[in-house]
Amino acid sequence: MKENFFDRSIDELAGILGDLDQTPYRLDQVLNWAYVRTVPDFSGMTNLSADLREKLSDILDLDPLTLVDRKRSRDGIEKLLLSLGDGELLETVLIQEKGYMTQCLSTQAGCGMGCTFCESARDGLSRDLTRGEILAQVATASRVLGNRRRLRNLVFMGMGEPLKNLDEVVPSLEIILDSRGFDFSPRRVTVSTCGWVPGIKRLSDEGLGVNLAISLNAGDDGTRSEIMPVNRKYPIKNLIKAAREYPLSNRQRITFEYVLIDGLNDSDDDAMKVAGLLKGIPCKVNLIPCNETSADYMPSPEARSTAFQKVLLDSGILATVRSSRGSEIGAACGQLRASSK
Ligand code: SAH
Repeated sequence: MKENFFDRSIDELAGILGDLDQTPYRLDQVLNWAYVRTVPDFSGMTNLSADLREKLSDILDLDPLTLVDRKRSRDGIEKLLLSLGDGELLETVLIQEKGYMTQCLSTQAGCGMGCTFCESARDGLSRDLTRGEILAQVATASRVLGNRRRLRNLVFMGMGEPLKNLDEVVPSLEIILDSRGFDFSPRRVTVSTCGWVPGIKRLSDEGLGVNLAISLNAGDDGTRSEIMPVNRKYPIKNLIKAAREYPLSNRQRITFEYVLIDGLNDSDDDAMKVAGLLKGIPCKVNLIPCNETSADYMPSPEARSTAFQKVLLDSGILATVRSSRGSEIGAACGQLRASSK
């Protein structure tokens, strides 16, 4: 079986090429084809000898993810359903913003965190993705878009809990940020967590400079533990402490995601509690009226979302209400995978 090209670090690729009697310059050429031009196979690497291309394609696969389904919504959301070598499925979402694209990456097949409003949690965790499977999502999207440079932001907000798979997520981030890899600025990369506190600490220690997003979703432990089981182990106090300790550069902010569920976590009182928790943290709050899933939750009405936002703004906390896009294609976390199963 061929190996996923993207599972190999740059040093390992240098070793492979060295074993094939290639000069270091050859490595730069291969990296450029793979990470900048994102060619799907070695035959496209036209400045390499035919012999070398053949040898490399015998051992390494530049296109390890198979596109199974592709859906596009009228409001500019595109969702790719990809199958992995062992038949597992994963999703990645492309979000068209003004003049650029944001890609939402998955880090696990399924998810074991059990958040009650989230479709990815429904069937539990199948397995962690490898670094190469995370990176190949970026390569696949670049090919779909025709150009890696059309992707401006990457958010680790797809299926799975990134901080429960840091052994693979950190190496993938290193290649994403490496100037010889995908070459993203850390300011353009965001890792989102449900609140796995030891992972926040470890990510802090890695010092990669990427943005941190925390899915808060409630203002008190009672409500949060009801909808996010992780909170029983790491209550809000610990979570907020870890957030305060996350290293931020000038003008960098932590994002708090808040899914607004009708009648459950969307009162003015809830908003006041959130304002109290976030006081003094350089942050912004993204309010997201929940997408309807198989669970019985309904999105908060628009007037409620706006009122919630106003409480935060009045307390001096930056807050936006995110319009829920892509609902007709089930663009929310895990929905496409769930419906294809
Ligand atoms: N495990 C990570 C990343 C995946 S979830 C995390 O929890 O942050 C990505 C985001 O989707 C989270 O902010 C989550 O709260 C949100 N989400 C999950 N289900 C949703 C739903 N039904 N409607 C709206 N947002 C949802």
